[in-house]
Amino acid sequence: MISKPTLEEVAASELRNRILTGQIPSGTRLVESFWSEEFGISRHSIRAAFQRLSDTGLANRSSYVGWSVAEFHEADLREIAEVRAALEGFAAGLAAKRKDRPDSALKTALEHLGQAIAANQDIDEADHAFHIAIVEASGNSRLIAQHRSISDQLAFAIRTANLTGDPKSQLQQQHAHMLELVLNGKAAPAERAFREHALAVLERKSS
Ligand SMILES: [Zn+2]
Repeated sequence: MISKPTLEEVAASELRNRILTGQIPSGTRLVESFWSEEFGISRHSIRAAFQRLSDTGLANRSSYVGWSVAEFHEADLREIAEVRAALEGFAAGLAAKRKDRPDSALKTALEHLGQAIAANQDIDEADHAFHIAIVEASGNSRLIAQHRSISDQLAFAIRTANLTGDPKSQLQQQHAHMLELVLNGKAAPAERAFREHALAVLERKSS
């Protein structure tokens, strides 16, 4: 049985969407009274929702300011990109070597990205989903769990990368090429391609 999401889960997920789409900018104070009224839920529930955001790295609590949306500075984005390169690069290598790899799920993820780019809608989400599919194709449950634990921060990093990165028209081709390496079992080139893809955001910043 699938249980109904609690009020705090609904509030946390709505806040997460607004943070990840930039509607609530990083560093914004999260005022309990405002958001409990906005969502029509108790202070207790809204605090629990803030705590959920904090658990995934999207919000912070300080004794002076109270709750606020996490700020991702250049050093944070570097750290996230490096962790992403390590996890997703390694996962791509494992996926390339795997005999019972779920190829159709990977092709579907690429198709969805293509559709999002064509419609110019939800591109970052589709990009993120493509990378999740690659990590899942590694078949390593612990690697998948590690990747999932920083999923929100990765989503934030992907959004930043796509804001400053190559034109959207090139995204499809880049990802198609990366996937081809995996599907053709080219482990080392696949690992390198996914690492470079994750780290590209840093090179753009420093150049
Ligand atoms: Zn990508």
